[in-house]
This record gives sequence, structure tokens and C-alpha cells, in this order.
Amino acid sequence: MNPYRVRFAPSPTGSLHVGGARTALFNYLLAKKYSGKFILRIEDTDLERNTKTALAAQLRDLNWLKIQWDEGVSIDENKDFGPHGPYRQTQRLDIYNKYIKELIENNKAYYVDSNNDNSSEIKVANKTGKNAVKIKVAMNKDYEFFDLVRGHIKINSNTLEDFIILRSNGLPVYNFGNAIDDYLMGITHVFRAEEHLYNTIKQLIIYEALGFSPPKFAHLSLILGHDKQKLSKRHGAVSVDAYRQNGILPEALINYMVLLGWNPKDNTEFFESNELIHRFDESGFNAAPAVFDEKKLEWLNSLHIRKMPDKLLFERICEFDDSLVASANADLIFKLLPIIKPLVSNLKMIVNYINLFNDELFKVSLDIQTESDISNLKAVINLWYNELLTFKEEFLSREQLASVFELIAQETQYSGKHLFQPLRLAVLGTPNGLDLLKIIPLIKVDSLKFRSNKVLNQLDAVVRT
Ligand code: GLU
Repeated sequence: MNPYRVRFAPSPTGSLHVGGARTALFNYLLAKKYSGKFILRIEDTDLERNTKTALAAQLRDLNWLKIQWDEGVSIDENKDFGPHGPYRQTQRLDIYNKYIKELIENNKAYYVDSNNDNSSEIKVANKTGKNAVKIKVAMNKDYEFFDLVRGHIKINSNTLEDFIILRSNGLPVYNFGNAIDDYLMGITHVFRAEEHLYNTIKQLIIYEALGFSPPKFAHLSLILGHDKQKLSKRHGAVSVDAYRQNGILPEALINYMVLLGWNPKDNTEFFESNELIHRFDESGFNAAPAVFDEKKLEWLNSLHIRKMPDKLLFERICEFDDSLVASANADLIFKLLPIIKPLVSNLKMIVNYINLFNDELFKVSLDIQTESDISNLKAVINLWYNELLTFKEEFLSREQLASVFELIAQETQYSGKHLFQPLRLAVLGTPNGLDLLKIIPLIKVDSLKFRSNKVLNQLDAVVRT
């Protein structure tokens, strides 16, 4: 049996879309599963739209997802690697020309005579004055293949006319370059998006004309937005980069993407990246379109955040917000993580929580309606501040803290939210829900004093205005 060889062949015109990333992921997983090779090559013949920046962004995103390729392109083209290069179509033009020549010599393709053919496609092709090349399509012939997702597919050639394979600018069309590359690179299986289903017929015609045997094909299900239209920029964040910036973990995005067009038999939804290679297989492919559900992605993200070892999560947080590396105290973050993890669904939320503990970022959000609110707040915070002044220790213990709370409760006769909201404000600047008994012992007494003082000053300012 042929060694398993699969590929991802993006046209890098922009950043990596989740649809492309899903294609790359499925190919990668199957290559790993069957000890095969995963090839990354690029289809860069659209000279105006393909940019170095887009390629660099796509490679960065694949690396971030840890979808690693065994052969193919690098950011620096001198570092492209593997035995079947070049891996960029613009560097393979001689190869395409050789096969074009062969097809013409064998009477299977011909130069287009622009005088005899007025189709707009040819007018464009002849812009440069040179002739484009068309491949001959047999009449009324059935082309068939077994699609690993969709089963038996048959399309009659009468739905097609002879079609261009080489443009007058010397560049191959997608179907031609793609078929030649797949053949020469020894690709055994093509897993790609459903939108290419019809192209497969054109590629089969090309394979047949050249006497090549085609690879196996699998057309993955469409990915739709919530409105059941094909997922696109209209749906907001659809690029891998946008999800990264929204604080999604690569592990969670991988987990979510694997469920787009694939089902494990037992309805498991949570997958760790390293188990996927064993769990993933072609029998779980689903032909029905998949609807991209942001909420589910966020939910999976929260599960991954909870399950991830703190050390790794810490790395992910620092990658996500590199300003944290410089400003934050790693010790404190490790103590906070177990408290914060159950409350968040993305890394942005984690960073926001961590920033609450940075004195330099300490902000007071006052939302006070009446003067009596202010005097209540001040009563509690003043007592709290005065108690803090009596401590010489660097940190309060839980016991010390409990007795301070007790004392303030007795003096003010407040309990519940009347007691704890002012204290939250004094400690974190916002009346949010972190458990004070857990977090205050993690904050230096000096910092607690600084914070209370700032809140009191701000309350005074409100009273004066
Ligand atoms: N460049 C094509 C795309 O990005 C590749 C399709 C294929 O895998 O054959 O859609």
C-alpha cells in the first residue's frame, strides 16, 4: 500500500479562515494517524492577491494550532523543505509547461484561437496577446469517483465544455496546477472543502488525459454561520487570528474544529489534542453542513481552561498578553488561577481578573446613586482601613481576615451584600464576585491599604462635588 500522503494547499490571500484551518487539521490528523506525511504547499498563482504577509500569517496560525507539516513551505522560501519541491506553484511553471506541451502533442489540448471563440473567459485569457490552452472534454462521458464523505459521485461530461488549463499569462488555472501537484507529490488522499466537489470532475479529466491515476477524494462538509449561510467575514470573527485575539486557546479551537463535519461514534464533545490522533477517523465524517456555534466554542474553551495544567495555562496567558509577563507576579498568578479558572470562558477574562490585582491598574468603579450609599460605603471601608493599619504582617491570614470581617459586621450591624460590596470595592475597585476570603490573603497588606485609601479619597471627592 502507498504510504499515506495528504496536503493542505491554501492560496494565501488573507489570514487563515477556520474553514481552511479545519481542512488542514483533518489532513494533519489523518497523516499522523496513518504514519503518513502532511504536506503544506501553496497555490500562489493569483499574483495580485497572494502576499508574503498573508503567507506568514497563515504559517503563524498553523504553528499556533500546532498543526505541523512534514514537507512544504517556510516563511523564508529558501527554507522550504522536503523531497517534492518546489512547494510554491509560481516556482513550478516549467513543470506545468512540460505537461501542457505533452497534452498538446497528444492532441488532448489545444491553443485557443481567439478569433473563433468569443467567450469572455477567453478574452480575459488573451489579454497579453498569447494564447491560452484548453483541454478537450469528451462528450457524454460519465466521470465517477467514490467520495469518502459523500459516497458515489457521478457527473456527466455534458455539463462541461472544453476548459482552459493554462492562461495566456503562462500561469496554470487552479484545477490544472492542483492536479499536477497532487500527482507529482504522490498525494494519496485529497481532503478538502465541499465547494471543490465540482472541480474534482475537471481534475479527473486532466488525470485521464495525462494517464495519471487520481488520488482518493473526500469533500468535507460546508461550514455555515448562525444564519445558515456559508461562513464568511459577515459573521464576524472567522479567522484563526481573531479567535486567538478573543482569548480562545489553540486546544479549544482544535477541539471545536474537529467537530465541524466529523462525529465520534459516542457523542464525545471534549477532546484533548493528543487523543484526537487516535480517535479521529474517516468513518466519522458527516456530509451535512456544520453550523459554526460561537457559544459552543466558548464553552469548550472554558472546559479546556479548567482542565489545563496551571503551568501550561500560565504559558498560554503570557503568550496571549505579553505585558503580563513583565508586570505580573507569577507566584500570585499561580495562586489566583484555581480561583479564577471556574469563572471564565476565555483568556481575556483571565487577564482582566489578574489585572485586578495590579496596583498600577487599580481603578475604582463607583456606581453610587444616593448619599446614603456613600456613607454606608465609607463606614465599612473606613473601619476596614483602620483595621489594616494595625497589622504588621505582609499578608493577612484567613483567620485574621475572618475576625476583621466579624468586627466590622458588629460595629456596623451590616451583613451580606451591605458588608461585602463595600469590601469588594475597597479591595478590587469593583463589586464583582470573587471570594474575598480566598483572595485577600493573597494580596499584600500594603497594597490593601493603598487600595482602600484610594477608594476613600474617591468617595470624598464624590461627596464634595
Ligand atoms: N487553493 C485551494 C483552496 O484554497 C486548494 C483546494 C484543494 O485543496 O484542492 O481552496
